[in-house]
Amino acid sequence: MYHVCLTFDFDAYSPWIARRLTNYTNLSRGEFASIGVKRILRLLRDHNIEATFFVPGHTAEHFPEEVGLIKDHGHEVAHHGYIHEPPETLGGPEEERRVIVKGIEALKKTANIVPKGYRSPSWALTKYTLSILEEHGMIYDSSLMGNDYTPYRPPLYLEVDSEGRVVRGPLSRLVEIPVHWSLDDYPHFEYVRFQSYVLHGLYSVSDVLENWILSFEYMVNNMDEGVIVYTFHPEVVGRGHTMIFLERLISHIKSHAKKYRISFSKMIDVANKYREKLGIV
Ligand SMILES: [Zn+2]
Repeated sequence: MYHVCLTFDFDAYSPWIARRLTNYTNLSRGEFASIGVKRILRLLRDHNIEATFFVPGHTAEHFPEEVGLIKDHGHEVAHHGYIHEPPETLGGPEEERRVIVKGIEALKKTANIVPKGYRSPSWALTKYTLSILEEHGMIYDSSLMGNDYTPYRPPLYLEVDSEGRVVRGPLSRLVEIPVHWSLDDYPHFEYVRFQSYVLHGLYSVSDVLENWILSFEYMVNNMDEGVIVYTFHPEVVGRGHTMIFLERLISHIKSHAKKYRISFSKMIDVANKYREKLGIV
């Protein structure tokens, strides 16, 4: 069986606040995520696909209607920080713990959701993050890049000692469902002027679609089974040309379904399957 996970990070206002780029126009870019979510929900319903939305607590508080819609459509809602704080930018384990708890409480309060999975804002874990996730009942993480098509049990941390040697922590009880920037819409399609650099983005959808299809085809042609995770943001993929990109990606993957067993799956379902395979009880 091959699992295709379509994942949507419903960041909305939060990354602009985390990056201190809060002019009116940037905040309106965050607001557009609401339009994007509704388009995505329609497309997923038309294709009868289940997906996972990673939602910062701040987004849940500002867009409770949209988060309720995501839930009502049968999709998974998972944890994505409180206000899109990359863990590496926080002041240590206590602050990381406080942010994880705040994110959980916001999802619970606004939509009665208890998240079981986590994706770090900006994919930037620290040596503490996975332990804190275990403490708070998470069963999977989706922030690391140590494999591609095969979920795995990650060490609790990798760190570099004073001699430059890499030290691996003991195995975590989480399932890691790996990701990669090459399968993320943000660097390919978004244009952002940061204080010290410009993210150019704005690639042709045809070029990116070819890369994303090739990644899928490598999996079905070379692996006996596997999981491919695509990462989207409603404020990015929700525009006209990128919605057509998403639709073409789905159609192409579906065209392989006659030959291969393919399931568009929620991350939680993949995590539960691999928990068993990895012997995590
Ligand atoms: Zn994000």
